Amino acid sequence: MILVLKTGTTEERISEISSLIAKKFDVSAQPIFGSEATIIGLVGDTSLIPLEELEVIPEVDKLLKVQEPFKRANRKFHPDNTIVEVGEVKVGTDKIVICAGPCAVESESQIMSIAESVSGSGAVMLRGGAFKPRTSPYSFQGLKAEGLLYLKKANKETGLPVVSEITNPLQVDLMMDFVDIFQVGARNMQNFELLKELGTIRKPILLKRGFSNSIQELLMSAEYIMSGGNENVILCERGIRTFETSTRNTLDISAVPVLKSLTHLPVFVDPSHASGLASLVEPLSLAAIAAGADGLEIEVHNDPANAMSDGMQSLTPDVFSALMKKMRTVAEAIGRTI
Ligand code: PEP
Ligand code: MN
Repeated sequence: MILVLKTGTTEERISEISSLIAKKFDVSAQPIFGSEATIIGLVGDTSLIPLEELEVIPEVDKLLKVQEPFKRANRKFHPDNTIVEVGEVKVGTDKIVICAGPCAVESESQIMSIAESVSGSGAVMLRGGAFKPRTSPYSFQGLKAEGLLYLKKANKETGLPVVSEITNPLQVDLMMDFVDIFQVGARNMQNFELLKELGTIRKPILLKRGFSNSIQELLMSAEYIMSGGNENVILCERGIRTFETSTRNTLDISAVPVLKSLTHLPVFVDPSHASGLASLVEPLSLAAIAAGADGLEIEVHNDPANAMSDGMQSLTPDVFSALMKKMRTVAEAIGRTI
């Protein structure tokens, strides 16, 4: 439930009202100072609260019921866009954030060379998996801790904040000092123990949509992290499984505007896993920007033919650089920058 407060309500009263309601009705009451209005969002079992008791508070302008099961992620709770800070990079502003790098960190020289080239082309974040969740146990599983060391070195060298996937709640401590944002992959979107653990920290999370999960389920997974107190969540559409076999997955482009209307959280698109084919990364990237994505996560490899994972969908640094130019043109056409 949401209490919309009258304009001019003092901060002191907002905090008094919030603590009073939280105590009396055993719910969480969170003041949110928006550009249009100040509201207090109530989360918990609000069904037993007698509405008259809230309506009589002189500062309350109106009460709004939030029907959706996601509350903290709901745009009704937070009408302004949330801006997530990843190192120095702000995600969720008019400036679209491009994150690029290999599927997996394979060696020190590989990640260093890719980091330098994508940074030179204008990427502002580096990706690279150290723990790889693979369909086959016989496939390359990632360099693990060694990969994290190389990512840190690439971060130090280029200044690019680093995103890397976490596959297990026990990896939080190990990864904490080596990554700037934790990625939760499609396969772990509903690993609720992992989500709860990530709710206890304050580092940003890039939460990817599971390939068989609805938009509402994605938002409920974000809610798991946010209800633990970590509001720094970026959502990522990365393609869903359909009957279509021409592409690895089907990019649900409409998920971008749908998510932007339902939630205040920033929305990324991953055109690489969505298509599985390097030749489709350009059109899908341009479409994602046109549809309103706040950022893209793109796989780039110095030698795609010999990549240890996802070579087929990886761009060479040169192709990536040409794509950056086209993305800037589309961004400009819709009043944004890259
Ligand atoms: C990845 O980013 O390398 C990855 C495995 O992505 P997803 O979880 O979307 O499949
Ligand atoms: Mn990959």
